[in-house]
Amino acid sequence: MQRDPRGRLVNKEELSFRDRPINLDDSGSRKWVYAKKPKGKWYRRRTIFSWFVLLFFIAVPFIKINGNPFILLDIAGRKFILFGAIFWAQDTLILALLMLSFIMFIILFTVTFGRLWCGWACPQTIFLEMVFRKVEYLIEGDYRKRQALDKGPITGEKVLKKSLKHLLFMLISLAMTNTFLLWFTGPEKWLELISQPISANLSGFLIMLLVSAFFYWVYSWFREQICTMVCPYGRMQGVLLDSKSVVVSYDYKRGEPRGPKSEGDCIDCRQCIAVCPTAIDIRNGTQLECINCTACIDQCNQVMLSTKKDPGLIRFDSEMGIREGHTSIWNARNRAYSVVLLILFSFFIYTLLSRPVIETTILRTPGLLYQENPDQSISNVYNIKIVNKTHETLPLEFRLLSHDGEIRMAGGKMEINDQSMFESTFILYLHRDQITSDRMEVEFGIYSNNEIIETYKASFVGP
Ligand code: SF4
Ligand code: SF4
Repeated sequence: MQRDPRGRLVNKEELSFRDRPINLDDSGSRKWVYAKKPKGKWYRRRTIFSWFVLLFFIAVPFIKINGNPFILLDIAGRKFILFGAIFWAQDTLILALLMLSFIMFIILFTVTFGRLWCGWACPQTIFLEMVFRKVEYLIEGDYRKRQALDKGPITGEKVLKKSLKHLLFMLISLAMTNTFLLWFTGPEKWLELISQPISANLSGFLIMLLVSAFFYWVYSWFREQICTMVCPYGRMQGVLLDSKSVVVSYDYKRGEPRGPKSEGDCIDCRQCIAVCPTAIDIRNGTQLECINCTACIDQCNQVMLSTKKDPGLIRFDSEMGIREGHTSIWNARNRAYSVVLLILFSFFIYTLLSRPVIETTILRTPGLLYQENPDQSISNVYNIKIVNKTHETLPLEFRLLSHDGEIRMAGGKMEINDQSMFESTFILYLHRDQITSDRMEVEFGIYSNNEIIETYKASFVGP
Protein backbone atom coordinates (compact mmCIF):
# COMPACT_ATOMS: atom_id res chain seq x y z
CA MET A 1 0.00 0.00 0.00
CA GLN A 2 1.05 3.60 -0.69
CA ARG A 3 -0.41 7.03 0.02
CA ASP A 4 -1.99 8.94 -2.88
CA PRO A 5 -1.72 12.79 -3.24
CA ARG A 6 -4.78 13.17 -1.00
CA GLY A 7 -3.13 11.07 1.73
CA ARG A 8 -5.34 8.02 1.26
CA LEU A 9 -3.82 4.58 1.55
CA VAL A 10 -4.22 2.89 -1.82
CA ASN A 11 -2.70 -0.12 -3.49
CA LYS A 12 0.21 0.33 -5.88
CA GLU A 13 -1.99 -0.47 -8.89
CA GLU A 14 -4.19 2.55 -8.21
CA LEU A 15 -1.24 4.93 -8.49
CA SER A 16 0.32 3.31 -11.56
CA PHE A 17 -1.78 5.44 -13.94
CA ARG A 18 0.77 8.22 -13.47
CA ASP A 19 3.64 6.06 -14.69
CA ARG A 20 2.28 3.93 -17.55
CA PRO A 21 -0.82 3.23 -19.63
CA ILE A 22 -3.31 1.34 -17.53
CA ASN A 23 -3.45 -1.57 -19.95
CA LEU A 24 0.24 -2.40 -19.48
CA ASP A 25 1.60 -4.38 -16.57
CA ASP A 26 4.90 -3.84 -14.70
CA SER A 27 6.82 -5.77 -17.35
CA GLY A 28 5.33 -3.73 -20.21
CA SER A 29 3.10 -6.58 -21.43
CA ARG A 30 -0.44 -5.85 -22.43
CA LYS A 31 -3.28 -6.45 -19.98
CA TRP A 32 -6.39 -7.41 -21.89
CA VAL A 33 -9.32 -5.09 -21.14
CA TYR A 34 -12.55 -6.93 -20.39
CA ALA A 35 -14.96 -4.01 -20.37
CA LYS A 36 -18.37 -4.56 -18.87
CA LYS A 37 -21.29 -3.98 -21.24
CA PRO A 38 -22.59 -0.46 -20.60
CA LYS A 39 -26.24 0.07 -19.84
CA GLY A 40 -28.19 3.27 -19.31
CA LYS A 41 -29.50 6.50 -20.77
CA TRP A 42 -26.20 7.70 -22.24
CA TYR A 43 -25.43 4.31 -23.82
CA ARG A 44 -28.89 4.29 -25.44
CA ARG A 45 -28.31 7.78 -26.83
CA ARG A 46 -24.87 6.78 -28.08
CA THR A 47 -26.27 3.66 -29.74
CA ILE A 48 -28.94 5.66 -31.59
CA PHE A 49 -26.39 8.26 -32.62
CA SER A 50 -24.06 5.53 -33.89
CA TRP A 51 -26.83 4.12 -36.10
CA PHE A 52 -26.98 7.48 -37.87
CA VAL A 53 -23.18 7.58 -38.25
CA LEU A 54 -23.15 4.02 -39.62
CA LEU A 55 -26.05 4.79 -41.94
CA PHE A 56 -24.19 7.86 -43.18
CA PHE A 57 -21.03 5.78 -43.78
CA ILE A 58 -22.92 3.10 -45.72
CA ALA A 59 -25.41 5.29 -47.59
CA VAL A 60 -23.25 8.22 -48.71
CA PRO A 61 -21.67 6.51 -51.77
CA PHE A 62 -25.18 5.75 -53.07
CA ILE A 63 -26.59 9.27 -52.67
CA LYS A 64 -26.83 11.25 -55.89
CA ILE A 65 -27.74 14.87 -56.51
CA ASN A 66 -29.02 15.48 -60.06
CA GLY A 67 -27.39 12.21 -61.09
CA ASN A 68 -24.03 13.22 -59.57
CA PRO A 69 -22.49 11.62 -56.46
CA PHE A 70 -23.03 13.44 -53.17
CA ILE A 71 -19.50 12.55 -52.05
CA LEU A 72 -16.85 10.80 -54.16
CA LEU A 73 -13.14 10.78 -53.43
CA ASP A 74 -11.96 9.92 -56.93
CA ILE A 75 -8.20 9.82 -56.42
CA ALA A 76 -7.58 8.02 -59.75
CA GLY A 77 -9.55 10.72 -61.62
CA ARG A 78 -7.83 13.47 -59.56
CA LYS A 79 -11.12 14.95 -58.39
CA PHE A 80 -13.16 15.06 -55.19
CA ILE A 81 -16.91 15.56 -55.14
CA LEU A 82 -18.00 16.95 -51.79
CA PHE A 83 -21.67 17.67 -51.14
CA GLY A 84 -22.31 17.66 -54.88
CA ALA A 85 -19.56 20.21 -55.68
CA ILE A 86 -16.60 18.97 -57.71
CA PHE A 87 -13.05 19.88 -56.75
CA TRP A 88 -10.16 19.30 -59.12
CA ALA A 89 -6.45 19.32 -58.43
CA GLN A 90 -6.59 23.02 -59.41
CA ASP A 91 -8.91 23.68 -56.46
CA THR A 92 -6.24 22.88 -53.87
CA LEU A 93 -6.63 26.28 -52.20
CA ILE A 94 -10.37 25.75 -51.68
CA LEU A 95 -9.80 22.23 -50.33
CA ALA A 96 -7.02 23.50 -48.07
CA LEU A 97 -9.40 26.15 -46.69
CA LEU A 98 -12.06 23.50 -46.14
CA MET A 99 -9.54 21.29 -44.36
CA LEU A 100 -8.29 24.19 -42.21
CA SER A 101 -11.89 25.10 -41.29
CA PHE A 102 -12.52 21.49 -40.30
CA ILE A 103 -9.36 21.34 -38.16
CA MET A 104 -10.32 24.64 -36.52
CA PHE A 105 -13.80 23.29 -35.86
CA ILE A 106 -12.32 20.18 -34.19
CA ILE A 107 -10.03 22.39 -32.08
CA LEU A 108 -12.94 24.62 -31.04
CA PHE A 109 -15.10 21.61 -30.28
CA THR A 110 -12.32 19.96 -28.24
CA VAL A 111 -11.56 23.11 -26.25
CA THR A 112 -15.25 23.29 -25.35
CA PHE A 113 -16.32 19.67 -25.02
CA GLY A 114 -13.11 17.65 -24.73
CA ARG A 115 -12.78 14.32 -26.49
CA LEU A 116 -16.51 13.97 -27.20
CA TRP A 117 -15.82 13.23 -30.86
CA CYS A 118 -13.81 10.12 -29.85
CA GLY A 119 -16.54 8.50 -27.82
CA TRP A 120 -19.46 9.42 -30.03
CA ALA A 121 -18.52 9.92 -33.65
CA CYS A 122 -15.04 8.54 -34.33
CA PRO A 123 -15.30 5.56 -36.73
CA GLN A 124 -12.80 3.61 -34.58
CA THR A 125 -15.08 3.81 -31.51
CA ILE A 126 -18.30 3.38 -33.47
CA PHE A 127 -17.07 0.19 -35.13
CA LEU A 128 -15.38 -1.18 -32.01
CA GLU A 129 -18.11 -0.43 -29.49
CA MET A 130 -21.23 -0.59 -31.64
CA VAL A 131 -20.37 -3.33 -34.13
CA PHE A 132 -17.52 -5.64 -33.11
CA ARG A 133 -18.08 -5.45 -29.35
CA LYS A 134 -21.83 -6.14 -29.82
CA VAL A 135 -21.01 -9.28 -31.83
CA GLU A 136 -18.69 -10.29 -28.99
CA TYR A 137 -21.35 -9.69 -26.31
CA LEU A 138 -23.77 -11.76 -28.38
CA ILE A 139 -21.46 -14.75 -28.80
CA GLU A 140 -19.29 -14.72 -25.68
CA GLY A 141 -21.46 -12.81 -23.20
CA ASP A 142 -20.54 -9.98 -20.84
CA TYR A 143 -17.11 -9.33 -19.31
CA ARG A 144 -17.01 -12.06 -16.66
CA LYS A 145 -18.08 -14.77 -19.11
CA ARG A 146 -15.57 -13.53 -21.70
CA GLN A 147 -12.79 -13.53 -19.14
CA ALA A 148 -13.71 -17.06 -17.97
CA LEU A 149 -13.85 -18.27 -21.56
CA ASP A 150 -10.42 -16.83 -22.39
CA LYS A 151 -8.76 -18.13 -19.24
CA GLY A 152 -10.53 -21.49 -19.27
CA PRO A 153 -9.37 -24.72 -20.94
CA ILE A 154 -9.94 -25.43 -24.63
CA THR A 155 -13.35 -26.99 -24.97
CA GLY A 156 -15.72 -27.61 -27.86
CA GLU A 157 -17.80 -24.61 -26.78
CA LYS A 158 -14.76 -22.35 -26.65
CA VAL A 159 -13.57 -23.42 -30.12
CA LEU A 160 -17.06 -22.94 -31.53
CA LYS A 161 -17.59 -19.50 -29.97
CA LYS A 162 -14.13 -18.22 -30.86
CA SER A 163 -14.36 -19.54 -34.45
CA LEU A 164 -17.80 -18.02 -34.95
CA LYS A 165 -16.72 -14.68 -33.49
CA HIS A 166 -13.57 -14.44 -35.59
CA LEU A 167 -15.38 -15.54 -38.74
CA LEU A 168 -17.94 -12.77 -38.21
CA PHE A 169 -15.14 -10.28 -37.44
CA MET A 170 -13.47 -11.19 -40.76
CA LEU A 171 -16.72 -10.82 -42.70
CA ILE A 172 -17.46 -7.45 -41.09
CA SER A 173 -13.90 -6.30 -41.85
CA LEU A 174 -14.37 -7.29 -45.50
CA ALA A 175 -17.71 -5.44 -45.63
CA MET A 176 -16.12 -2.38 -43.99
CA THR A 177 -13.28 -2.29 -46.52
CA ASN A 178 -15.67 -2.56 -49.44
CA THR A 179 -17.93 0.17 -48.05
CA PHE A 180 -14.84 2.29 -47.58
CA LEU A 181 -13.86 1.51 -51.18
CA LEU A 182 -17.24 2.73 -52.41
CA TRP A 183 -16.33 6.23 -51.19
CA PHE A 184 -13.40 6.19 -53.63
CA THR A 185 -14.94 4.40 -56.60
CA GLY A 186 -18.70 4.98 -56.45
CA PRO A 187 -21.12 2.03 -56.71
CA GLU A 188 -20.99 1.68 -60.53
CA LYS A 189 -17.20 1.39 -60.72
CA TRP A 190 -17.16 -0.89 -57.65
CA LEU A 191 -19.69 -3.24 -59.31
CA GLU A 192 -17.59 -3.23 -62.46
CA LEU A 193 -14.48 -4.06 -60.41
CA ILE A 194 -16.00 -6.96 -58.50
CA SER A 195 -17.62 -8.46 -61.59
CA GLN A 196 -14.26 -8.73 -63.35
CA PRO A 197 -12.03 -11.78 -62.75
CA ILE A 198 -9.61 -11.30 -59.84
CA SER A 199 -6.65 -11.64 -62.21
CA ALA A 200 -7.81 -8.45 -64.02
CA ASN A 201 -7.34 -6.41 -60.80
CA LEU A 202 -4.94 -8.54 -58.79
CA SER A 203 -3.13 -5.65 -57.08
CA GLY A 204 -6.42 -3.94 -56.16
CA PHE A 205 -7.77 -7.23 -54.81
CA LEU A 206 -4.64 -7.78 -52.69
CA ILE A 207 -4.85 -4.24 -51.30
CA MET A 208 -8.51 -4.85 -50.41
CA LEU A 209 -7.53 -8.06 -48.57
CA LEU A 210 -4.65 -6.29 -46.77
CA VAL A 211 -6.90 -3.44 -45.60
CA SER A 212 -9.52 -5.97 -44.43
CA ALA A 213 -6.81 -7.91 -42.57
CA PHE A 214 -5.71 -4.64 -40.94
CA PHE A 215 -9.27 -3.86 -39.80
CA TYR A 216 -9.64 -7.41 -38.49
CA TRP A 217 -6.37 -7.09 -36.53
CA VAL A 218 -7.39 -3.69 -35.10
CA TYR A 219 -10.85 -4.79 -33.97
CA SER A 220 -10.03 -8.28 -32.80
CA TRP A 221 -6.72 -7.56 -31.06
CA PHE A 222 -5.31 -4.02 -31.07
CA ARG A 223 -8.60 -2.38 -30.05
CA GLU A 224 -8.50 0.48 -27.50
CA GLN A 225 -4.74 0.90 -27.99
CA ILE A 226 -5.52 2.93 -31.13
CA CYS A 227 -7.14 5.55 -28.84
CA THR A 228 -4.66 5.32 -25.98
CA MET A 229 -1.36 4.93 -27.82
CA VAL A 230 -1.68 5.68 -31.54
CA CYS A 231 -4.21 8.43 -32.20
CA PRO A 232 -2.45 11.84 -32.26
CA TYR A 233 -5.72 13.63 -31.48
CA GLY A 234 -5.79 12.12 -27.99
CA ARG A 235 -2.34 13.50 -27.35
CA MET A 236 -3.48 17.04 -28.15
CA GLN A 237 -5.89 17.08 -25.21
CA GLY A 238 -3.23 18.30 -22.82
CA VAL A 239 -2.86 21.57 -24.74
CA LEU A 240 -6.49 21.95 -25.80
CA LEU A 241 -8.34 21.36 -22.55
CA ASP A 242 -8.53 23.83 -19.71
CA SER A 243 -10.47 24.09 -16.47
CA LYS A 244 -13.60 25.29 -18.33
CA SER A 245 -13.71 22.42 -20.86
CA VAL A 246 -16.78 20.29 -20.27
CA VAL A 247 -15.67 16.64 -20.12
CA VAL A 248 -16.70 13.45 -18.34
CA SER A 249 -15.67 14.29 -14.77
CA TYR A 250 -15.84 12.77 -11.33
CA ASP A 251 -17.21 15.10 -8.67
CA TYR A 252 -14.45 14.63 -6.10
CA LYS A 253 -16.00 17.21 -3.79
CA ARG A 254 -19.07 15.07 -3.50
CA GLY A 255 -17.44 11.66 -3.83
CA GLU A 256 -14.53 11.94 -1.40
CA PRO A 257 -13.63 10.51 1.02
CA ARG A 258 -14.59 7.38 -0.78
CA GLY A 259 -15.43 3.98 0.65
CA PRO A 260 -18.45 1.86 1.54
CA LYS A 261 -18.86 3.52 4.90
CA SER A 262 -17.23 6.89 4.27
CA GLU A 263 -18.88 10.30 4.18
CA GLY A 264 -18.37 10.74 0.45
CA ASP A 265 -20.90 9.48 -2.08
CA CYS A 266 -18.41 7.21 -3.85
CA ILE A 267 -18.70 3.76 -2.32
CA ASP A 268 -15.51 2.67 -4.12
CA CYS A 269 -17.30 -0.14 -5.95
CA ARG A 270 -14.99 0.32 -8.97
CA GLN A 271 -17.86 -0.28 -11.36
CA CYS A 272 -16.90 2.86 -13.33
CA ILE A 273 -13.54 1.18 -14.04
CA ALA A 274 -15.14 -2.16 -14.92
CA VAL A 275 -17.26 -0.54 -17.64
CA CYS A 276 -14.53 1.68 -19.08
CA PRO A 277 -13.36 0.53 -22.53
CA THR A 278 -9.89 1.93 -21.83
CA ALA A 279 -9.88 0.59 -18.25
CA ILE A 280 -9.05 3.90 -16.58
CA ASP A 281 -10.25 5.20 -13.25
CA ILE A 282 -12.00 8.51 -13.98
CA ARG A 283 -11.73 9.34 -10.28
CA ASN A 284 -8.05 10.10 -10.93
CA GLY A 285 -9.16 13.10 -13.03
CA THR A 286 -9.21 13.79 -16.78
CA GLN A 287 -6.79 11.48 -18.51
CA LEU A 288 -5.48 11.11 -22.04
CA GLU A 289 -7.12 7.67 -22.31
CA CYS A 290 -10.65 8.96 -21.58
CA ILE A 291 -12.61 9.02 -24.83
CA ASN A 292 -15.68 10.62 -23.20
CA CYS A 293 -17.82 7.61 -24.02
CA THR A 294 -20.02 8.21 -20.93
CA ALA A 295 -20.16 4.50 -19.99
CA CYS A 296 -18.91 5.36 -16.49
CA ILE A 297 -21.68 7.99 -16.09
CA ASP A 298 -24.34 5.36 -16.76
CA GLN A 299 -22.68 2.83 -14.49
CA CYS A 300 -22.18 5.22 -11.58
CA ASN A 301 -25.75 6.51 -11.92
CA GLN A 302 -26.97 2.96 -11.43
CA VAL A 303 -24.81 2.63 -8.34
CA MET A 304 -26.14 5.95 -7.01
CA LEU A 305 -29.69 4.76 -7.64
CA SER A 306 -29.10 1.53 -5.73
CA THR A 307 -27.51 3.40 -2.81
CA LYS A 308 -30.33 5.99 -2.84
CA LYS A 309 -28.06 8.92 -3.67
CA ASP A 310 -28.43 11.58 -6.33
CA PRO A 311 -27.14 10.64 -9.78
CA GLY A 312 -24.37 12.67 -11.41
CA LEU A 313 -21.39 11.78 -9.23
CA ILE A 314 -19.73 11.24 -12.60
CA ARG A 315 -21.16 13.64 -15.17
CA PHE A 316 -20.38 16.07 -17.97
CA ASP A 317 -18.85 19.03 -16.19
CA SER A 318 -15.72 21.13 -16.12
CA GLU A 319 -13.02 21.19 -13.47
CA MET A 320 -14.18 24.74 -12.68
CA GLY A 321 -17.79 23.55 -12.45
CA ILE A 322 -16.88 20.91 -9.90
CA ARG A 323 -14.54 23.18 -7.94
CA GLU A 324 -16.70 26.31 -7.89
CA GLY A 325 -20.17 24.95 -8.57
CA HIS A 326 -20.75 26.95 -11.76
CA THR A 327 -19.35 26.78 -15.25
CA SER A 328 -19.66 28.50 -18.58
CA ILE A 329 -18.69 26.85 -21.81
CA TRP A 330 -17.68 30.24 -23.23
CA ASN A 331 -14.21 31.49 -22.47
CA ALA A 332 -11.61 33.67 -24.18
CA ARG A 333 -10.03 30.72 -25.95
CA ASN A 334 -13.13 29.34 -27.63
CA ARG A 335 -14.31 32.86 -28.52
CA ALA A 336 -10.98 33.47 -30.29
CA TYR A 337 -11.15 30.07 -32.05
CA SER A 338 -14.76 30.84 -33.14
CA VAL A 339 -13.64 34.09 -34.75
CA VAL A 340 -10.79 32.33 -36.60
CA LEU A 341 -13.20 29.58 -37.71
CA LEU A 342 -15.70 32.15 -38.95
CA ILE A 343 -13.01 33.97 -40.96
CA LEU A 344 -11.66 30.74 -42.46
CA PHE A 345 -15.11 29.41 -43.32
CA SER A 346 -16.21 32.73 -44.87
CA PHE A 347 -13.06 32.77 -46.97
CA PHE A 348 -13.77 29.17 -48.03
CA ILE A 349 -17.35 30.06 -49.06
CA TYR A 350 -16.16 33.15 -50.92
CA THR A 351 -13.48 31.25 -52.89
CA LEU A 352 -15.95 28.44 -53.58
CA LEU A 353 -18.62 30.76 -54.95
CA SER A 354 -16.23 32.92 -56.92
CA ARG A 355 -14.23 30.14 -58.55
CA PRO A 356 -14.49 30.13 -62.37
CA VAL A 357 -16.83 27.62 -64.02
CA ILE A 358 -13.92 26.35 -66.08
CA GLU A 359 -10.21 26.16 -65.35
CA THR A 360 -7.86 26.53 -68.29
CA THR A 361 -4.17 25.77 -68.56
CA ILE A 362 -2.28 26.56 -71.77
CA LEU A 363 1.42 25.80 -72.00
CA ARG A 364 3.78 25.67 -74.93
CA THR A 365 4.58 22.04 -75.76
CA PRO A 366 7.82 21.23 -73.92
CA GLY A 367 10.88 20.68 -76.09
CA LEU A 368 9.51 22.56 -79.12
CA LEU A 369 10.64 26.05 -80.13
CA TYR A 370 9.00 27.87 -83.05
CA GLN A 371 8.51 27.08 -86.71
CA GLU A 372 9.14 29.51 -89.59
CA ASN A 373 6.62 28.85 -92.37
CA PRO A 374 6.80 29.66 -96.13
CA ASP A 375 3.83 32.09 -95.81
CA GLN A 376 5.94 34.36 -93.54
CA SER A 377 4.17 33.20 -90.41
CA ILE A 378 5.73 31.89 -87.21
CA SER A 379 4.00 29.08 -85.35
CA ASN A 380 4.14 27.72 -81.79
CA VAL A 381 2.61 24.47 -80.57
CA TYR A 382 0.62 24.49 -77.31
CA ASN A 383 -0.98 21.95 -74.98
CA ILE A 384 -4.36 22.99 -73.65
CA LYS A 385 -6.23 21.55 -70.67
CA ILE A 386 -9.72 22.76 -69.70
CA VAL A 387 -11.64 21.49 -66.68
CA ASN A 388 -15.41 21.90 -66.77
CA LYS A 389 -16.52 22.38 -63.16
CA THR A 390 -20.21 22.74 -63.95
CA HIS A 391 -22.88 20.06 -64.09
CA GLU A 392 -23.61 20.87 -67.80
CA THR A 393 -21.94 20.03 -71.10
CA LEU A 394 -20.24 23.19 -72.37
CA PRO A 395 -19.70 23.96 -76.07
CA LEU A 396 -16.49 25.98 -76.12
CA GLU A 397 -14.79 28.21 -78.61
CA PHE A 398 -11.25 29.40 -78.48
CA ARG A 399 -10.08 32.80 -79.80
CA LEU A 400 -6.88 34.81 -79.79
CA LEU A 401 -7.56 38.18 -78.14
CA SER A 402 -4.20 39.95 -78.18
CA HIS A 403 -3.12 39.53 -81.81
CA ASP A 404 -4.45 38.86 -85.25
CA GLY A 405 -3.45 35.22 -85.70
CA GLU A 406 -4.80 31.81 -86.53
CA ILE A 407 -5.47 28.91 -84.17
CA ARG A 408 -5.55 25.38 -85.56
CA MET A 409 -6.89 22.98 -82.96
CA ALA A 410 -6.23 19.25 -83.22
CA GLY A 411 -9.52 17.36 -83.53
CA GLY A 412 -12.95 18.77 -84.20
CA LYS A 413 -15.23 20.93 -82.09
CA MET A 414 -14.52 21.67 -78.45
CA GLU A 415 -17.26 20.32 -76.26
CA ILE A 416 -16.63 19.31 -72.67
CA ASN A 417 -18.94 17.05 -70.77
CA ASP A 418 -20.00 18.06 -67.27
CA GLN A 419 -17.28 17.64 -64.63
CA SER A 420 -14.76 16.45 -67.17
CA MET A 421 -11.42 17.47 -68.49
CA PHE A 422 -10.62 18.39 -72.11
CA GLU A 423 -7.03 17.94 -73.25
CA SER A 424 -5.72 18.75 -76.70
CA THR A 425 -2.97 20.41 -78.72
CA PHE A 426 -3.19 23.43 -81.01
CA ILE A 427 -0.89 25.49 -83.21
CA LEU A 428 -0.91 29.28 -83.15
CA TYR A 429 0.21 31.09 -86.32
CA LEU A 430 1.23 34.76 -86.17
CA HIS A 431 2.47 36.78 -89.12
CA ARG A 432 6.13 37.77 -88.84
CA ASP A 433 5.09 41.47 -88.62
CA GLN A 434 3.36 40.85 -85.32
CA ILE A 435 6.38 39.39 -83.57
CA THR A 436 7.77 42.17 -81.34
CA SER A 437 10.30 40.12 -79.35
CA ASP A 438 11.75 36.63 -79.19
CA ARG A 439 9.45 35.90 -76.22
CA MET A 440 6.19 37.79 -76.01
CA GLU A 441 2.85 37.40 -74.33
CA VAL A 442 -0.31 36.32 -76.13
CA GLU A 443 -3.80 36.27 -74.69
CA PHE A 444 -6.52 33.73 -75.43
CA GLY A 445 -10.25 33.92 -74.72
CA ILE A 446 -12.44 30.89 -74.02
CA TYR A 447 -16.03 31.45 -75.14
CA SER A 448 -19.19 29.49 -74.56
CA ASN A 449 -22.30 30.41 -76.55
CA ASN A 450 -20.48 33.56 -77.71
CA GLU A 451 -19.84 34.72 -74.14
CA ILE A 452 -16.32 35.01 -72.85
CA ILE A 453 -15.92 32.89 -69.72
CA GLU A 454 -12.19 32.91 -69.20
CA THR A 455 -9.01 34.51 -70.51
CA TYR A 456 -5.53 33.02 -70.36
CA LYS A 457 -2.08 34.46 -71.07
CA ALA A 458 0.74 32.32 -72.47
CA SER A 459 4.12 32.99 -74.04
CA PHE A 460 4.92 32.95 -77.74
CA VAL A 461 8.51 32.53 -78.92
CA GLY A 462 9.83 33.75 -82.22
CA PRO A 463 13.12 34.50 -84.01
S1 SF4 B 1 -19.09 3.76 -9.93
FE1 SF4 B 1 -19.44 5.62 -8.77
S2 SF4 B 1 -19.54 4.90 -6.68
FE2 SF4 B 1 -18.61 3.24 -7.80
S3 SF4 B 1 -16.41 3.62 -7.65
FE3 SF4 B 1 -17.10 4.63 -9.50
S4 SF4 B 1 -17.50 6.72 -8.85
FE4 SF4 B 1 -17.44 5.49 -6.99
S1 SF4 C 1 -13.50 7.22 -18.09
FE1 SF4 C 1 -15.67 7.04 -18.54
S2 SF4 C 1 -16.00 8.35 -20.31
FE2 SF4 C 1 -13.81 8.05 -20.12
S3 SF4 C 1 -13.41 6.32 -21.47
FE3 SF4 C 1 -13.70 5.47 -19.42
S4 SF4 C 1 -15.88 4.99 -19.36
FE4 SF4 C 1 -15.59 6.31 -21.11
